[in-house]
Amino acid sequence: MYQGMIVRKTPEQVEAMAAAGEIQARCLRMLRSKVRPGITTADLDEAAERFIRSQDAVPSFKGYRDFPGSICASPNDMVVHGIPGPIELKRGDLISIDCGVTFGGWVADAAITVPVGEAPEGAEPLLTATRESLFAAVEQAQAGNRLGDISHAVQKRAEADGLSVIRTLVGHGVGREMHEDPQIPNFGDPGKGPLLEEGMVLAIEPMVSSGGAEVRMGSDGWSVYSQDGSLAAHFEFTVAITADGPRILTPWHED
Ligand code: MG
Ligand code: MG
Repeated sequence: MYQGMIVRKTPEQVEAMAAAGEIQARCLRMLRSKVRPGITTADLDEAAERFIRSQDAVPSFKGYRDFPGSICASPNDMVVHGIPGPIELKRGDLISIDCGVTFGGWVADAAITVPVGEAPEGAEPLLTATRESLFAAVEQAQAGNRLGDISHAVQKRAEADGLSVIRTLVGHGVGREMHEDPQIPNFGDPGKGPLLEEGMVLAIEPMVSSGGAEVRMGSDGWSVYSQDGSLAAHFEFTVAITADGPRILTPWHED
């Protein structure tokens, strides 16, 4: 895999990214509170854009390679990159919401998966394992570790419960640009890959399926589905590697 230069941020720049991340996390918490049967993914998208602009920030996804939305909204067997639209969520659906916020020229990127009303059959173990795989990966975001330690942590936690990590989609460095080096696979060998150093900021994002690892593209050219129609989950944080250890810059888990 190509790994170019990993841009390191100064402590001041990490603080600036944390300001973007705080807006991002508040946006995701707001969206999570709005998820209910009958709401459309376009409604969620509008709410996200309104909130982000009210904070003098910009929705990073909108217009990125001509993507039309401020969020990606990916229901059920859709893994990622769903275009928001007049799709009404139903009780028992699972919805993954991914959102990018640019503030002061810095990008924060994070995602959550939430059940609509009640979790569909088989979804709770998937949600628990995917979320825990993200936290396990964050623990590895330490100076002196290797990128493979992060990748391996995701894979190990997801596969412990018989789930599959999606191998063709990866996390990434983040900063002035939404997608910087390195690419961060959700599988790999501990102790391998680039050395992690203070000032690196990573968007770590496990994408996990309750069935197989294979995916297919949707006809809109964006959406990615599990090949076998199994449920998928996606959780993401923007994380900085600091002198004091990993720092989650998009704390959607804090209420
Ligand atoms: Mg994202
Ligand atoms: Mg990302």
